[in-house]
Amino acid sequence: MISYTVAEIAAITGGRVIPGNLPPGYAVRYIATDSRTLLNGGNTAFFALNGTRNNGHAFVQELADRGVRVFVVSPGFRIPGHPGVALVETGDTLAALQKLAAYHRSRFCLPVVAITGSNGKTIVKEWLNDLLYKHFTIVRSPKSYNSQIGVPLSVWKILPEHTLAIFEAGISLPGEMEKLERIIRPSIGVLTHMGDAHQENFPSLREKTEEKLKLFNHCSKLIVSSDQPEVYGIAEAFCREKGIGMVAWSTRDPGAGLFFSVETGKEGSLIRAEGEGISCSFTIPFKDAASVENACHCFAVLAALGLDCRPFTGRFEQLAPLTMRLEQKKGVNGCLLLNDYYNSDINSLEIALSVLLSQAESNHMEKIAILSDIQQSGFRDEELYGMINVLLENAGINRIFGIGRNISHSGYRFSMERHFFETTGQFLASARKFRFSDAAILIKGARDFRFEAISELLQQKAHQTVFEINLNALVENLNLFRSLLAPSTRIMVMVKAFSYGSGDVEISKLLQFHRVDYLAVAVTDEGRELREAGIALPVIVMNPEPHSFQQMIDYHLEPNLYSLELFRSFAGVAGLNALDSYPVHLKIDTGMNRLGIKTDGEVQAVIELLVRHPRLRLQSVFTHLVASDDPLLDTFTRGQNIRFREVSDRILAALDYPVMRHILNSAGIERFPEFSYEMVRLGIGLYGVSSTGLPLKTAGRLRSLVSQVKEVLPGESVGYNRSGLIEKPTRIAVLPVGYADGLDRRLGNGRGKVFMKGRYAPFIGNICMDICMVDVSDIPCNPGDEAELMGEALPPGEVAAAAGTIPYEILTGISHRVKRIYLRE
Ligand SMILES: *Cc1c(COP(=O)(O)O)cnc(C)c1O
Repeated sequence: MISYTVAEIAAITGGRVIPGNLPPGYAVRYIATDSRTLLNGGNTAFFALNGTRNNGHAFVQELADRGVRVFVVSPGFRIPGHPGVALVETGDTLAALQKLAAYHRSRFCLPVVAITGSNGKTIVKEWLNDLLYKHFTIVRSPKSYNSQIGVPLSVWKILPEHTLAIFEAGISLPGEMEKLERIIRPSIGVLTHMGDAHQENFPSLREKTEEKLKLFNHCSKLIVSSDQPEVYGIAEAFCREKGIGMVAWSTRDPGAGLFFSVETGKEGSLIRAEGEGISCSFTIPFKDAASVENACHCFAVLAALGLDCRPFTGRFEQLAPLTMRLEQKKGVNGCLLLNDYYNSDINSLEIALSVLLSQAESNHMEKIAILSDIQQSGFRDEELYGMINVLLENAGINRIFGIGRNISHSGYRFSMERHFFETTGQFLASARKFRFSDAAILIKGARDFRFEAISELLQQKAHQTVFEINLNALVENLNLFRSLLAPSTRIMVMVKAFSYGSGDVEISKLLQFHRVDYLAVAVTDEGRELREAGIALPVIVMNPEPHSFQQMIDYHLEPNLYSLELFRSFAGVAGLNALDSYPVHLKIDTGMNRLGIKTDGEVQAVIELLVRHPRLRLQSVFTHLVASDDPLLDTFTRGQNIRFREVSDRILAALDYPVMRHILNSAGIERFPEFSYEMVRLGIGLYGVSSTGLPLKTAGRLRSLVSQVKEVLPGESVGYNRSGLIEKPTRIAVLPVGYADGLDRRLGNGRGKVFMKGRYAPFIGNICMDICMVDVSDIPCNPGDEAELMGEALPPGEVAAAAGTIPYEILTGISHRVKRIYLRE
């Protein structure tokens, strides 16, 4: 394994060493920029990057405590109390990371394929890997690591054993590609589909294409499609100027260097390739134009690598869509399952382990890995499973179940409790003998091992209606709201009411990972559950009850003290606990006439209490808008802000420490960002509901499976009280979901609908407690087919409008008996 000393890192990056007591020759093998995904700090150099929101320097102390010994930091930065740590000071830590990666790259001589373009980068990279892994030992970008940070981290993974590298590169600003080119130094380039010019920060398609082409400045070959004529013209001129060999392909022009004739059938596409001395055909299991284009790019790469295409034709048939990779479910006996059955390479194992760790952390759960043979590594088994063992050890895995001949033979490489089986069937047959309870279990196998059956066995049985939460959508929504705010504005997320129905613990863990500043719950019990699940963020309780004050203190929850009585009685309990400066919050009523202190007299009294009681420290003062989403009431909203400013000014002036102020909920952030103060309170926007048409993603999807399909004739009726009278022959589908699951009864009798097979089917008759019926006369469907009751095709806002209510009620109404499933990429 390749390693670098601190002196070498300093020399390569042009930095200055502040040595500390680190032994000379200390080996750096890993680099990290994100404290959250680090499994183990040993032999790691952490680069403290200065992001707009998160400054890496803020995590250095914590990482030094966790065992990281080498840090690349900005000039003057020091870590008190860690004499054993070495620092490398440099003016630009990101540039240093890039220089180190570029140096690392320069030590290897191997074919490097680089992929850029607007669409299809990741899928072309993954498909090339699926096609080529038996011929090469491949290193490739993990996930979509294609940015100014992702590219150096990818290139760093090159080892002497590798015989082919595949990296993707993405840019958002002019000037960025040259930097990526210096790091990747590709020999073969692929320019995938180019999208609209205005999608990215470039004024025209020409400028964007020219910038992207800079990645290929030193390539010997460039693969490009001539089916995008403008892009092709620019690429052709570029190749001519630089003396680069063009591999131009087309599905329309038989005169192109490589001509693909495409025949679309029922199940997929048959593609015939002619040119570059090749004549062969292959099929892919896709019909859409984008997949055909991506497959043609892959084929052209095989040609550019000078490979005989025949051994590969069969493998094109096996290509799979890139799907959500990780699925998190509740398992039997309090277990938590993390399913990842897409593929089984080392990089993705590392990512899955860090997710497992973050979910099991501080829950004191046992950690188990069920792994198949790793098929795509190219390393010798002994070495490979030794590396896997290190990853498992770093993640604190307690037990491994290995399935497959190779992993079984190398079983002695594992240092934790271990069990091996030749086939998935053998594991299933003996699984009963093992105890799986209160464990976080990673189930990760190559596709042929069919690990779905293991997940099926270990999963908590529930009925067929589930609420799926797409955690990536949630994070995208969070980031979109962040982009509306100044980087210094803090974000409190309201996770009350089971996080608007999405599951408070899981969502809070995700939010903690993505570094929001505060969480808010409605009642103490909700806060206690978060603490028991290991949430360490500050948590405010909006409706604290005096009988729960002691519990709040025990769990370090922060009360919203909305009245003088509450202030006095909480101060009393704080006194009994001999607390000092316990964080509390104060709500001002500026027009809702709900909770909060309202009169000038009350404000004065609170100020006096705070000054007299140093046991309490006012963390924030806030108010809630009555109609932030209603333009007709904007004058009232502005009035609320004026009153809030007046009251909060008085309070702040009376205290000798800083106090945060906040007034905005989701709609407020969208419509009145100028009232952000120090913090905002994000709620429903996180789940994809916008009041101004922001391009948010619907995060939740309520789905069910058809139980039965039947024909109903004129004169008959459907459901209770015969409300669904039939006038013409009708086919109905019965779904196992009713108002007890949270399906609003007001949607019955044609007011609402479900989405099936790309079409909408209206409810027919009354919705029952556990069952409902829909009209599928126009939709060919069978028992077992899926129906969506809410989701991207039926956003909560639309469902609410059909039911005559608001999306809040729809989301929070999904009952607890509906199983929640969490998806992430
Ligand atoms: C629920 C709640 C919010 C969040 O409101 P959204 O409209 O969901 O963004 C903000 N502040 C308070 C006080 C709340 O109770």
